[in-house]
Amino acid sequence: MVGLVVVCHSRPLARAAVALATEMTRGRPLTLEIAAGLDEDTYGTDAAAIMEALIAADTGDGVVVLMDLGSAVLSAETALELLDDEVRERVVLCPGPLVEGLVAAAVAAASGASRDEVAAEAAAGLAGKESHLGVPSEDQIIGGTREGPSATVEVTDPHGLHARPAARVVTEARSFDARVELRNATTGSGWVSASSLSKVATLGVLQGHELEVRASGPQAQEAVDRIVAVAGSGELIEPGGDGSGFSTEQRSSTGEPRDRGSLGENEAGGGPQGRAGADLRADGARHQAGPASPGVAIGPAAHLRAAPLDLPDLPSLGAEPELRRLEQALDAARREITSIPDPIFDAHLLLLDDLLPEARTRIEQGAPAPQSWHRAVSSVAAQFDALTDPYLRARAADVRAVGDQVLRLLLGAPAATTTADGVLLAADLTPAQAAALDPARTAGVLLAAGSPTSHAAILTRTRGIPAVVGAGPQVLDVPDGTLIALDGGSGTFVVGPSGTDLATFRAAASQQATVREAARSLAFEPAVTSAGVEIAVGANIGSVEDARVAAANGADLAGLVRTEFVFLDRAGAPDVDEQVAVYRAIAEAFGGRRVTLRTLDAGSDKPLPYLPAPAEANPFLGVRGLRLSLAHPRVFAEQLLAIARVAREAPVSVMFPMVTTVDELRRARVMLDEAVARTGSGRPAGLRVGMMVEVPAAALRAAEFTPYAEFFSVGTNDLTQYTLAAERGNAALMSLSAGLDPAVARLVDELCRAAAADRVPVAVCGELAADEQAVPRLLAAGVRQLSVAPALVPLVKQTVRAI
Ligand code: PEP
Ligand code: MG
Repeated sequence: MVGLVVVCHSRPLARAAVALATEMTRGRPLTLEIAAGLDEDTYGTDAAAIMEALIAADTGDGVVVLMDLGSAVLSAETALELLDDEVRERVVLCPGPLVEGLVAAAVAAASGASRDEVAAEAAAGLAGKESHLGVPSEDQIIGGTREGPSATVEVTDPHGLHARPAARVVTEARSFDARVELRNATTGSGWVSASSLSKVATLGVLQGHELEVRASGPQAQEAVDRIVAVAGSGELIEPGGDGSGFSTEQRSSTGEPRDRGSLGENEAGGGPQGRAGADLRADGARHQAGPASPGVAIGPAAHLRAAPLDLPDLPSLGAEPELRRLEQALDAARREITSIPDPIFDAHLLLLDDLLPEARTRIEQGAPAPQSWHRAVSSVAAQFDALTDPYLRARAADVRAVGDQVLRLLLGAPAATTTADGVLLAADLTPAQAAALDPARTAGVLLAAGSPTSHAAILTRTRGIPAVVGAGPQVLDVPDGTLIALDGGSGTFVVGPSGTDLATFRAAASQQATVREAARSLAFEPAVTSAGVEIAVGANIGSVEDARVAAANGADLAGLVRTEFVFLDRAGAPDVDEQVAVYRAIAEAFGGRRVTLRTLDAGSDKPLPYLPAPAEANPFLGVRGLRLSLAHPRVFAEQLLAIARVAREAPVSVMFPMVTTVDELRRARVMLDEAVARTGSGRPAGLRVGMMVEVPAAALRAAEFTPYAEFFSVGTNDLTQYTLAAERGNAALMSLSAGLDPAVARLVDELCRAAAADRVPVAVCGELAADEQAVPRLLAAGVRQLSVAPALVPLVKQTVRAI
């Protein structure tokens, strides 16, 4: 008989639902387990408890799981991951409603139905209620006559209801508890839902057109009044905007940057003071933004370009997994879009919602997610293509751009190639894009978003490419080919520099080159302070190539290998052999010097399409770093096995990221011990185990970690963001994250004191390790190892020597 498992936030609720369901089975036997609540009174779900329930309910004929909302689904997915393959194959997570679905499933299971029949019954649990209540489809509502308030208003906005004003109307309409519909009375269009951006934009409402509004539901009147007020008052355009439409960092099909008009100058993205003004087209002014990677770059502007995408011809894995895949890609796209603090991107979020229903229908009809999404995008874009108004027609490119963004995430394809010759301009770069930059071709990078400790900034530094970040969205309007000069050490940049400007930048470049040359001549000498203290200066690396550059720059060790580069931008996790090959190549590049392999440090800030990551309101405070690895024990165990194998061949340190509690560290160590045991004979002699200190709680309780850590490495990028409550990639908070904050310095003091008591060495691998002002203070606290971008190793050794 098929077993049932009820996963629910509340134990009493689960019991009541089960009582109701068993009442319907009239005493026939049923295999049913409950995994609900954290205890009798505490709401929550627990993956371990769900796993036990699944095992108990597994009679061999299959198990159907009914869940309530939110984390119930995620915990059930995690529990599935923990099961043996054989059991997992018999389990199906059912999207049916908890109560109705459970009743239907119980009746079907008790009467001997198969697993798939039980799941289908449960999934259709709402059908009876829907047909009884006569729930109408959207088309019926929109096409039919309905009672409710209505009004007509002349649209006074000079841009009509073009994309951005349309987005404003949609946002207003969605804010009411009402179903709002619109039609263009002047052209005699049909009614469309006011909640759909693509439908509202395609009404073709121009200035002077009559817009008809009608609504039903509890707040119908308020909704109609509000839409009439904003549409009739010219209020559609936010202060500082010109209503010129929603745009994107991607270029139009002609390759020309689209005209985004003025975006409200400095306040548009909440960026740093004094950054770029409204129109940067060769204005020749000096602008100040975030210094991200030192060095001077002079070259023509080159915008990020998307590479063409191929849709693989693969069959659907089934509606449920394909829908889940699409939802994950949409969540990741939403995160990417909202990471750029610019109101114009709000329209893109609305477009995602518009495209979803058609894609979902296609998936339910048996098509795979990429094909379904692609078709939905094509059909909505075609609606724009068919319009007569040239401005609206051009908006098809926006639909395609946002559609492409999701498709790339679905396929694990890189978002855009970064092989630009000159100064690369982009809204932001993903870690994979930044890691793929070629210093031979890209002279410099100028980003609209980000801060000096954002992942993109760190990676430009790693690649040794001068970069300025947080420059504001206006940089996206600079036409391709415009000459740009930037100084990544000071954060200064000029679009269209004069001859005098160019001479100044060139002088700075030549002075920096002299300093660099002097440092390079001593790169292979140890870094010893004038007091005779030797400091190991290592490199932070994110690729085998970085390892070679680091070795050539005299790095004493690899103080941080960001292993996520092996995991990013691909459809599935790398297997053990692939990881061994990469870690071995890094160790070989370091020729016997120590290599510190940090275990996977991903999360919804660096999403991986193949590890289910729920949308999180605060990704940096979410399931990230070691938390994510512990939540995916199979992936973690494989990485530890690969590391343990390489540790038999070379001196390797394992470092766990974002450790918060001693229990996490102990669990990670147990898994590492298991991995070492799987490689055969005892523990490799050169293997060391340590942790990053990036969470203030870990710094403050360092003494409790010392029994389990052979070294600490301070991740000042994260430690600073968590201490100052200032997200590291947020350009508006750049000043909070700059330099060594006194509060962070006190945490480092506390850590070093506790570490010294137990003779545990302390390193710093965050970006402050290369900060000339911060280094003396860090060494005074007791830090004895620094790890920095490969190209900066010689300069940091010089900094140490000057102390
Ligand atoms: C840090 O947080 O300082 C660190 C080195 O880790 P990452 O920048 O990779 O988060
Ligand atoms: Mg970190």
